[in-house]
Amino acid sequence: MSVTVLQNFIDGEFVNSVNTGQYIDSHNPATGKVHVKIPDSTKADVNNAVEAAQAAFKTWSKLPRTRRSNFLYRIADILESRLKEFAEAEVRDQGKTITFATNVDINRSVYNFRYFAGHVLHAEEKVGQLDGVAMSYVQRWPVGVAGLISPWNLPLYLLTWKIAPCIASGNTCVCKPSEFTSLTAYMLCSVFKEAGLPNGVVNMVFGSGQSAGEALVTHPNVPLISFTGGTVTGKHIMASSVKHMKKLSLELGGKNANIIFDDCNFEQAVETSIRSSFWNQGEICLCGSRIFVQETIYQKFLDAFIPKARDLVVGDPNDSKTFVGALNNLKHMEKVLMYIDLARQEGGVIECGGSRKILQGELSEGYFVEPTVITGLPPTSRVAQEEIFGPVVTVHPFTDEQQAIDYANDSPYGLSCSVWSENDRRARRVSESIQVGTVWVNCWLIRDLRMPFGGTKASGLGREGADYSMDFFTELKTICLANF
Ligand code: NDP
Repeated sequence: MSVTVLQNFIDGEFVNSVNTGQYIDSHNPATGKVHVKIPDSTKADVNNAVEAAQAAFKTWSKLPRTRRSNFLYRIADILESRLKEFAEAEVRDQGKTITFATNVDINRSVYNFRYFAGHVLHAEEKVGQLDGVAMSYVQRWPVGVAGLISPWNLPLYLLTWKIAPCIASGNTCVCKPSEFTSLTAYMLCSVFKEAGLPNGVVNMVFGSGQSAGEALVTHPNVPLISFTGGTVTGKHIMASSVKHMKKLSLELGGKNANIIFDDCNFEQAVETSIRSSFWNQGEICLCGSRIFVQETIYQKFLDAFIPKARDLVVGDPNDSKTFVGALNNLKHMEKVLMYIDLARQEGGVIECGGSRKILQGELSEGYFVEPTVITGLPPTSRVAQEEIFGPVVTVHPFTDEQQAIDYANDSPYGLSCSVWSENDRRARRVSESIQVGTVWVNCWLIRDLRMPFGGTKASGLGREGADYSMDFFTELKTICLANF
């Protein structure tokens, strides 16, 4: 298979890195073979990209919002017309299934551009009348050059979730996608070109977090960083950006609880729990990796859930029948397997899965792991506390409502939670007691982009979505006019 060599995208042109000839190998997770080489960009590349973004900001920030919106609509249309090509590339680069890549990653990337193209036209500012004394209103303006840093699990979706509100609000940006999944971000640059997006509005610098990422975070002319990734990296970025007092949004890890009461719609709870545990190989920050089941239906739940998990098709990500594709990279697969071993050491019972899955032919070196269900561990065990980010869930019984709430909240993270109960009052009571950014009742992963999205505790800082993203990507001033 041929290897694609990427270039940075700076000031509307594809250019080689200043770090000539230095590349990072990126592997196809399903085959383990190198399929992309990404430039190992340095501070000098980031400096060039920031300069281009600063120059573009002068005109882009002054463009009427209707014109900016038109560019976003055009980008959405072009991306949509190339959906299949992008989905196939995401599969090769990330390891996820073609079904997921098509329906979630790329489809929602199109929607991100279309959504913010519309939203920017309809956003309203607050005006206050103060008892005949004064009238105040809010003035909003873009911040400048934004640094957008994204992870490898939902590569294009999470990147476009940042780019769309960022440029719709009049900012320009320098993006640093994950070194493991840069391919679709690179392809997106050709969409920008085709859409006629002015040069320098979006710049893409590929490379490692330690080099290109760090240079972006510490750049004095990048006043804003939007980061999605792990909590350890997030803390580091927070510390590095302090010197310049940057505006910071951190979307970090999770260890989300899935609470199932005995008065739930059982079939729905089981079906959805399969998806919330194993979709995208468990590599979604919102996956429910700790399942708490009321003791009265604990065994019934295991009897229904485990066979379904065992029967999930692990295999060729390009096959539409496959449910679980490859984990994104070798190091990550080793980490996931390490946690399964740790579960054994902690006294857990591996009810199904528990191993790397070796496939045949060209997939024989792929990073596949069987869907794994673990019981018998206390909710305080390391495996039930630390983010694994793979197709691994722990299941625990609970006695009553209060114990379920306590278990769910006993976590350093606070991203999301699912609650399953047909008793509306109970569902509401429990939902309001869980310390997270999103609670789903009798569902999972339904996203209304108008709602705030983000985490509490170690899951992050700030909120994204509709006005929340627009607030982050703009500065706000209150102007108070005395009545005269
Ligand atoms: P990482 O934190 O390893 O990396 C995220 C991004 O940060 C990558 O582009 C990485 O670069 C870059 N980076 C690494 N070090 C630095 C640095 N010193 N300065 C600047 N940038 C840096 O996360 P993963 O890619 O492993 O993603 C998985 C994590 O993301 C999980 O914890 C998951 O929960 C979280 N996540 C959170 C979401 C949310 O909305 N809360 C959504 C999705 C994922 P590179 O990889 O190129 O080295």
